[in-house]
Parts: sequence; structure tokens; C-alpha cells
Amino acid sequence: MANDEIAKLTEDIIICEACYLKDSRTQVVPGLYGPKNGLCIIGEAPGYYEDKQGIPFVGRSGKLLDNMLSGIGLEREKDLSILNVIKCRPTTADNNNRTPTNSELKFCGERWLFKQLKLLSPKLIVTIGSIALRFFIPSAAVTKYVGKSYDTDFGIKLYVTYHPAYILRNYNLMDLYNEHFEGIKSLYLNLLNQNKITSDNKRSTKGQGEQKSLTDFL
Ligand code: SF4
Repeated sequence: MANDEIAKLTEDIIICEACYLKDSRTQVVPGLYGPKNGLCIIGEAPGYYEDKQGIPFVGRSGKLLDNMLSGIGLEREKDLSILNVIKCRPTTADNNNRTPTNSELKFCGERWLFKQLKLLSPKLIVTIGSIALRFFIPSAAVTKYVGKSYDTDFGIKLYVTYHPAYILRNYNLMDLYNEHFEGIKSLYLNLLNQNKITSDNKRSTKGQGEQKSLTDFL
């Protein structure tokens, strides 16, 4: 995404040393940017492979996520942004991946993710997994919120689904995961339709029900 402000912000993110997670990273993983006013998928933090490659959602989880997105006609970076709440890999003492703490989520998320969201101004955020959800709704249990959408305090609609790594371990949930992505597509189309109607006074509301692909709007 060619945008001076987001490029400048990314430059700041990749040299950040504001917390101790700088010591466990190979590199900062700032995320991938799609179009503004679009869709933004948000995970928790880089794991081993993300940290090595500098790209969010790689390996088997990333492949499943890409397949789910392609099933609803979307491609990462071209059509949507993929970010993590935390930009540096949290590790255990023996260098395994570790679940980030609430304070780590809050510290990095408020420092960088909020700024990224402000510049990207997405129509829809999709949290992937319980930890990313916890950043937006600290008391939330993913089982209660999953497969539904919510209005955030900062005016962006949020949809909750599972982390692809969880689906790889619980393949019996694959049909439900497909339903979630169909739900994401339908919600996102509705939001884009609303935006298009609002921004064009001459547009007839008759066209709202027309079948369109997501990329028609991007
Ligand atoms: S985790 Fe976030 S706040 Fe901490 S060093 Fe990395 S980018 Fe900076």
C-alpha cells in the first residue's frame, strides 16, 4: 500500500525498542497493508516462522488462513491488511513461542496497532483467536464471542473467529470455520454497500441486493 503516512509509521515500528520483547525477536513484524477503508485481520503476535520471515501468518496456519480468504474471493495484501497486536515474538526461557500477557498486548497494541488502524481506517476488523480478541475486549472468552460481530468503542465493527492453528488441531470445526468466513464476507459486503450508498447521494438503494464480489469495492 503506497501511503507516506503508513510507510513512515512502519519505519518507526521496525526500529521500536520500547519494551523487553525487543530482546526475543529476530525482527519486528509490522504487518501487511491492504487498501484503506477495507478489511483488517488481526492476530496476536509473531510466532517462530513469522519472526524469521518478518511476515504475519506464515507456515501451516498462514496457508489455511490464505485458503479461507481465497474461498471468499480475497487475497492478503492485495485486498486486505493482516496485522498482529504485538509486533515482536514473545518467547519462553527455552525460546519457544509464548502466549503474550495482557500487559504486553496493551503496551504494544496501544503504541502501534491503534496508530495503524487509525491510518487504515478499516470498515471491518476480524480478530483471529482468543488472544487478539482479548486486546479489544479484555474480559472476553472466545467461545462466547466467536462467529458474531460487535461494535467497538472506536466505531469499527469487529468479527470474532478462531485462529487457524486451532482449526488445524480441531479439524472437526472446519465446516464451522467456513461458515465464519462466509459470515465475514456477508458482513463486509454489507458494510461496503452501506458506505457506497452513503458516499453517493444519487445512488439508488435498489442496487443493495445485487450480487457483487468483494473486490468490486476495493
Ligand atoms: S513488542 Fe511492540 S512495543 Fe515492544 S519492542 Fe516490539 S514493537 Fe516495540
